Amino acid sequence: MSGRALEGQTAIVTGASRGIGRCVAIRLAEAGACVVAVARSEDCLQNLESEIRASGGCAEVRTLDVRDTDAFAELAKDVFEKRGRLDILVNNAGIARDGLLARMSEESWDAVIETNLKGCFNGCRAAARWMIRQRSGSIVNISSVAGVAGNAGQANYCASKAGVIGLTKSLARELGGRNIRVNAVAPGFIRTDMTRGVTEEFEKEFCGRIALGRFGEVDDAANVVVFLAGPNAGYITGQVVCVDGGLVI
Ligand code: NAP
Repeated sequence: MSGRALEGQTAIVTGASRGIGRCVAIRLAEAGACVVAVARSEDCLQNLESEIRASGGCAEVRTLDVRDTDAFAELAKDVFEKRGRLDILVNNAGIARDGLLARMSEESWDAVIETNLKGCFNGCRAAARWMIRQRSGSIVNISSVAGVAGNAGQANYCASKAGVIGLTKSLARELGGRNIRVNAVAPGFIRTDMTRGVTEEFEKEFCGRIALGRFGEVDDAANVVVFLAGPNAGYITGQVVCVDGGLVI
């Protein structure tokens, strides 16, 4: 995004302690937004806050478990009351607990659905309350191409990310009349802690299935999130943008 298109806006980013969420927080701050970055790891958040402030940006960090409905509602209320506005929410926090169906425990099913889908619902509901009052807002939910296409060994993860798409489309219809846009970004394979540890052999084979022939970097996903969050995407809602280098076409 050119210039500081988000000057004066307030944004909440979940899962901002590392990976895609961290990069989104930095890029939103560069675009002029005051960023409230949340996750569970306080040390990583402090480090992010220092980095954004050192480059002249505005950031505040809060520890939050997105599964905690009441804590998310309290955070949104607090941000709105303190900053006087809440313009952007990026629901990025997510986990994976992969396994084939026969061996998938109920615990790993619940953990993934609770974090990825309920956490996203918690965020949307908490933020929408204030965005409705403000009569404007933009929500970007992080899904996955796995939620679009499915993937063997990831039934819990794919179900949660497909759920995020359904939630996104429903809320786009529900909140559009209040001038609140709701979109999703569906990354493909992005290099982060979540995807660390793949073998060279896997990378070579997998890249053969990607039209652009490479894994994505966090900026590839973050740039699209920032675009959808901001005014240049002012007539876009209810959409799922795949950022996957052409893995799923
Ligand atoms: P990551 O590096 O593992 O980071 C995940 C982030 O989520 C961390 O900041 C983590 O922070 C936070 N988080 C996890 N559980 C949380 C909870 N209960 N409450 C609050 N924060 C929580 O993952 P990533 O690769 O950047 O992924 C970011 C998002 O993109 C996820 O939704 C993921 O499913 C999605 N995605 C990633 C890829 C990929 O290839 N990397 C592809 C498609 C979709 P704490 O541990 O500090 O809480």
